[in-house]
Amino acid sequence: MRRRISKLVVFLLLGAAVNVAVAWGCALWSEEPSGVAIVEYEPFQMNGSWWCTATWSYFGTQVYAYRPFRTRDAVDEYVSFFELKDLYKGGNLPSWLRLPRVNAYGDKLSGPLLIDVGRGWPAISLSYGLNTQVEGDLVLPVSRISSGFTMGEYRQPTSGFPRVVPLRAIWPGFAVNTIFYAAILSLLWSSPFVVRRLIRRKRGLCIKCGYDLRGAEHQACPECGVEL
Ligand SMILES: [Zn+2]
Repeated sequence: MRRRISKLVVFLLLGAAVNVAVAWGCALWSEEPSGVAIVEYEPFQMNGSWWCTATWSYFGTQVYAYRPFRTRDAVDEYVSFFELKDLYKGGNLPSWLRLPRVNAYGDKLSGPLLIDVGRGWPAISLSYGLNTQVEGDLVLPVSRISSGFTMGEYRQPTSGFPRVVPLRAIWPGFAVNTIFYAAILSLLWSSPFVVRRLIRRKRGLCIKCGYDLRGAEHQACPECGVEL
């Protein structure tokens, strides 16, 4: 029993390690988190701001970009100016978005822009945040990185965003991926032993030690004592 539990713990730790490695791999080899927003959410109020949110995704990556406004009217002005309303789509935003309290607000042409990037596969499991500013069509250089450290630039940079290794765990994605990889690792670990047992049984050998049992009836293996 104790051995089983410690084996489970080892596989979960290995699963967590693979999960982190995959999420970091997505951060290090995939493209920068710039792109075209394909879903705009209904503006909503949280932490003292009205938020206008867009999201897009590609393999191993989910990006949320959002802007704080002081009032609903300011959001509506921004939305109608850029004709974003047609893109509205329902659905719930994930709980891992920062949506922090801010002391500066946006208007239709400029203001703070916050970007949260989640990485990982099959679920999004680690995230980081970028704080920047929009001025008309321009996105200014990132002024703050949260929950991540910079690691060089992207192969084909278009926005000037730094490449960031994510550090903040996302639930339940982190747990889902950890169990997923732990299950794969334990299957890979046990499959050679399962195959060996099948071959030994077929050949009339002891399944545990390989002792030749042919030629006599045995209740237990005379070599290692395993019951047959
Ligand atoms: Zn044996």
